[in-house]
Amino acid sequence: MSDKSQEQALTSLSGKLLRLLEPLRRSEDGAAVYTYIEQALRDRDQTQQQVEHCYADLVSLLLAAFAHVLPSGSPLLVKLRLLQMRLEPPLPAHDLAQLQEALQQTLTQNALAHVHTTQETIETAMSPLFGCFGLSYATTSTAQQAPPEPPAPEIPKNHPRAASTPIVPTQPASTSEQFSTEPERRVDMSYRRHLDEKRQGIQKIHLALAKHIDATIDRNREFSALLESQLEKLRDLSDQQDVEAMRQHIIEETTHLLQAQHELAERLDDTRNDLRVIEADSQQLSDEMTRVHLLSLTDDLTGLANRRAFLRRMQDEIGRVQRYGNPLSLAVIDLDGFKAVNDQFGHAAGDEVLKVYASEVLTTFRHHDMVARYGGEEFAVLLPNTTSEGAMRSLRKVQKRSTEVPYEHEGDSHSLPTFSAGITLYRPGESAEDFMQRADHALYRAKRLGRNRIESAEQEESGNSSMG
Ligand code: GH3
Ligand code: MG
Ligand code: MG
Repeated sequence: MSDKSQEQALTSLSGKLLRLLEPLRRSEDGAAVYTYIEQALRDRDQTQQQVEHCYADLVSLLLAAFAHVLPSGSPLLVKLRLLQMRLEPPLPAHDLAQLQEALQQTLTQNALAHVHTTQETIETAMSPLFGCFGLSYATTSTAQQAPPEPPAPEIPKNHPRAASTPIVPTQPASTSEQFSTEPERRVDMSYRRHLDEKRQGIQKIHLALAKHIDATIDRNREFSALLESQLEKLRDLSDQQDVEAMRQHIIEETTHLLQAQHELAERLDDTRNDLRVIEADSQQLSDEMTRVHLLSLTDDLTGLANRRAFLRRMQDEIGRVQRYGNPLSLAVIDLDGFKAVNDQFGHAAGDEVLKVYASEVLTTFRHHDMVARYGGEEFAVLLPNTTSEGAMRSLRKVQKRSTEVPYEHEGDSHSLPTFSAGITLYRPGESAEDFMQRADHALYRAKRLGRNRIESAEQEESGNSSMG
């Protein structure tokens, strides 16, 4: 390192002290003392830099955690990113002191402890940091606030979906979000709990760091005072013995200081390692969330395939039909008057109906048919190698079975509600969306014609509507 860059590596306080001590370098002993002191100051400055990096890492981690829970288009994300850029070391001493204070306030905000973390609570929590670094303009307004968590999807009365609404996505994973919110919400909540624990961990580290910094500042203040008084004395010294005594004294003091600085550096290293562990943990957690999200293909309540799994399988089956030309039928089944079960006996009874349908009634389909819970009280079934007539026969068997099996609730046995169904046959070249929409129209007709019916799109087209 050149003299110039060495000088630059020192803070202005250290530089000033060294300039004051310049006269020491004139004698051989004095030069040795000077080198000791110079080294001590350099160590001190290095420690200071480590502290800055620790703080920057800490803030960066905090910002990343916040960014993780914000919706992707949030303007608050940009602000968090700007702050992250502003906090790249080296930080001016003034910024560091402000940062320390703002961070303390941020971390003691209770906002993060809430399960429902919104843009607003994040912005509130971050406001001291934003304020401190000139980013305090408002980002959220009532209109921009993250919407509250969506309620469980409701199927409109009399018809599962509006006929004009696209049903099957070209990218199956995206529309499948609608009915798979429960497991993800659970993961999300446990993730937030985990995040909260991390926050407490960070808070502890922060407190330890703050103590270390206070200790360093005190020690440096004492040392500066000592140096100045020693310098005064050095100027007044006349005989060689006094100089030697002073030299010994400075060497002792400097050695103490060096030891203390080393201890501090070690502790900062430990803290830095803790931060790295936390960072690795968060990364692992976020990977795990992505994995769970991608892998959730089963409906929790019934154990059937969920909508996402169904749509994937539908794409596969359509691919097979295009290649081999086998018939492929689709049925959508919607329980009749299901809301009344909930209203009369409670949600648990409704759940029991769904479970009995899944385990006792829909098991009537052949095992290579794919039965899925498509929505609340709606099931979808893919019947490979099956014509529309074959599908109608299967559905009739299922209909019969539904009248034979009761469900239990609070010790009483009740008949299962009936269902309406729409069936259709895949037409070569059509999209999954069109296929699904036709089955849906048939279901809608079954509902309209009085429920407890199975309607086939093909029979409708040839003019024979099927009675239930
Ligand atoms: P329709 O004959 O026209 O199909 O009437 P319905 O009462 O079956 O249909 P509606 O769409 O009016 O109500 C469906 C209800 O199903 C509303 C919703 O609260 C309930 N539901 C959706 N998912 C579940 C669930 O997982 N468990 C229970 N118990 N109820 C559910
Ligand atoms: Mg429905
Ligand atoms: Mg219904």
